[in-house]
Amino acid sequence: MNLPAPFVLSNRALLGNEAYEELLAALQQEPPVSIRMNPAKQPDEPIRASLSEVPWCSTGHYLDQRLTFTFDPLFHAGCYYVQEASSMFLEQALKRYMPDDRVTMLDLCAAPGGKSTHARSVLPEGSLLVANEVIRNRSQILAENLAKWGHPDVVVTNSDPSDFTSLTSFFNVILVDAPCSGEGMFRKDPNAIDEWSPENVEICQQRQQRILSDIWPCLRPGGILIYSTCTYNTKENEENVQWMCNRFGAEVLEVDVPSGWGITGNLLPDADFPVYRFFPHHTRGEGFFLAILRKPETGSEDHVPTFFSADNTAFKRKDKRAVAAPVLVSKEHLATAKAWLLQPDAYQLSISGTIVSAFNHSQLQQLATLSSVLRIVQAGIIIGEVKGKDVIPHHSLAMSSALRPGSFPTREVSYEQAIAYLRKEAISLPETAPRGYVLLTYKAVPIGFVKNIGNRANNLYPQEWRIRSGYMPEEVRMLF
Ligand code: SAM
Repeated sequence: MNLPAPFVLSNRALLGNEAYEELLAALQQEPPVSIRMNPAKQPDEPIRASLSEVPWCSTGHYLDQRLTFTFDPLFHAGCYYVQEASSMFLEQALKRYMPDDRVTMLDLCAAPGGKSTHARSVLPEGSLLVANEVIRNRSQILAENLAKWGHPDVVVTNSDPSDFTSLTSFFNVILVDAPCSGEGMFRKDPNAIDEWSPENVEICQQRQQRILSDIWPCLRPGGILIYSTCTYNTKENEENVQWMCNRFGAEVLEVDVPSGWGITGNLLPDADFPVYRFFPHHTRGEGFFLAILRKPETGSEDHVPTFFSADNTAFKRKDKRAVAAPVLVSKEHLATAKAWLLQPDAYQLSISGTIVSAFNHSQLQQLATLSSVLRIVQAGIIIGEVKGKDVIPHHSLAMSSALRPGSFPTREVSYEQAIAYLRKEAISLPETAPRGYVLLTYKAVPIGFVKNIGNRANNLYPQEWRIRSGYMPEEVRMLF
């Protein structure tokens, strides 16, 4: 591995020669493969693959070989997320420090959604997760991954950190998984090596401080900010934590970690606040850094969100171009859509253009506030699309835990049919299958809707999510 000379120099100085050689040797190894299971989606078959547990994550597993994820229907159904293991340490910070009751959490730099899907599984029920991504096309991928994960209480936004600043004391947990120089990704992503330079480390540090300054006012007094990067250097890590302590009076918090986990602590001379650093020569995973900070209870800031909207019946979008002309939506349309929900009274239905969405009643005021300053990509669940007298059920509903079992007839499909469906090819169901909307399942997990018209079934899988790869490996290795 051809590493930049200044990187070699600074890491030899940081770690010592012996540990640096160990790091270098670890970087020559194949990266471990790991997944995190979705506790809300369990197939009806036992796991086939050989797994071992990720010690710091209750749903994390290492695989002893890479599986054929693209050709596993359960991957597309959101049964698990492929995520490198070190990042799953987030769970320890959340479980130790988040409040027991409803949490309003922001994941500020969230795409593609590894930590958002993880946080959503760990947050107490009734909590709201706001997952933001500043780059527009990445925010679409984030929305897709969260829709597949299937929890209804999520808002996906596409805003700059500075757009959040006016949301004073809005969140009680904020995760800043900051864009960084990516030293911890050298083994998985050779581009990270090409892009690395001491100047880039400086630029990253400045950008991180700007992001942290923008977002700090949004944290409630007593609230928790989790700061993480996938880089090793102390400039983007300990120095930024120190900077937050000096600048904001933040308190650095500790979690108990068994020494057997191999986590490395503070590497800044003369500083001893607790931080959690993952080196591939000590832990099975990529490079990762995490620190937990608490905002002081100064009492000087307003706990009540600054913005309210009287109009809670519709989601107002900042980007007015995204709102289509109104269509005629009848009470019958809304009644049809509402009947598909497990707890219909828990949701407020709204319509934007032809799209019917549902959002948790108890979080509407928060949504109105968010909508007044942020670009909302997706809020709650898209239930369906109004077409004439009909409401066409949306794929997000098929993926959602809010779907009422029994709302649609279901048909279990074979592996070959499931893959054809996910490629958006035509599907034909047996003669005996009911006409109309049918929910397809694979190993008892919903994979999406078709409209069965008898001689064929129209495939309602989203065009933009379909499996594009023409190549199908001869041997497919699957989790279940
Ligand atoms: N948290 C994600 C996950 O677990 O899947 C990974 C996030 S990645 C480390 C950092 C993200 O920050 C990227 O998606 C990137 O687009 C975004 N980003 C880049 N520049 C940014 C900026 N100036 N402000 C906020 N986010 C930024």
